[in-house]
Amino acid sequence: MENNKPVVRLISKPESMLKTIYTACRTCYSAESPVNIYESAVDEEKMLKLIERVISSGHYSTIEHIQITFAISNVSRACTHQLVRHRHMSFSQKSQRYVKEKGLFDYITPPTIEKNAVLSEKYDEFMKKVSDFYQELVDTGIPAEDARFVLPNAASSSIVASLNLRELIHLANIRLCTRAQYEIRIMVKMMCDELIKEEPWLGKYLTPKCEKLGYCDEDKCCGRKTPKAEFFKKD
Ligand SMILES: Cc1cc2nc3c(=O)[nH]c(=O)nc-3n(C[C@H](O)[C@H](O)[C@H](O)COP(=O)(O)OP(=O)(O)OC[C@H]3O[C@@H](n4cnc5c(N)ncnc54)[C@H](O)[C@@H]3O)c2cc1C
Repeated sequence: MENNKPVVRLISKPESMLKTIYTACRTCYSAESPVNIYESAVDEEKMLKLIERVISSGHYSTIEHIQITFAISNVSRACTHQLVRHRHMSFSQKSQRYVKEKGLFDYITPPTIEKNAVLSEKYDEFMKKVSDFYQELVDTGIPAEDARFVLPNAASSSIVASLNLRELIHLANIRLCTRAQYEIRIMVKMMCDELIKEEPWLGKYLTPKCEKLGYCDEDKCCGRKTPKAEFFKKD
């Protein structure tokens, strides 16, 4: 199970995250210059108070100044395909054109399959067959960019992903929801935890959307919050 887990590292974030957001927020409401606001910002509690007010009022441009980068590996192509649907993110992904698989390629096994001994064995046999055929194609001179057509969604991938704080909150809101697929949910949780370790004040924002809404807007509710229809039901 452990070798099926994504590997996620926060590799870049601004040192002065709080001060940068505070400067953006204060600039909107102050006669002072942004430089003066930045230089004189020392009171963390005061900064957090303003930032919380501004974020909860939906003034999100102020958190778009914060760029964060994660190094991610040991995730399936199925997972990265979902991640790259997020249009406000930037990506650099291990290429299946330039990086030829050698021997049995790395792949991810979903826990539902892994916990079934019979299916798990068949799954591994299937991957071995795919790997052998991939190798045959490459050995016959088929370029890797064409041989990769036989590789499955399970093939393991690596990706460097960058996004601003507004997009990370959005990503957390929809991908930490139990309706999201298990692997991206685990990966996004690891991304959030990495950042929260360094910036604990972000914990209240990096949550599933139901925490923000106060209710569940999904068709199938996991029970964490009251379903929307019930929440808005008139007595
Ligand atoms: C549980 C779940 C199931 C899913 N199932 C499917 C599926 O079956 N098939 C499928 O194709 N996809 C599926 N998706 C992907 C989904 O449709 C989105 O493409 C993906 O989640 C990216 O979300 P987003 O568009 O909100 O976010 P981002 O692309 O990260 O954008 C963030 C926000 O920016 C705004 N925005 C971005 N681009 C535009 C634009 N062009 N116009 C207007 N506003 C914009 C929107 O407010 C958007 O919410 C699923 C996602 C989830 C979470």
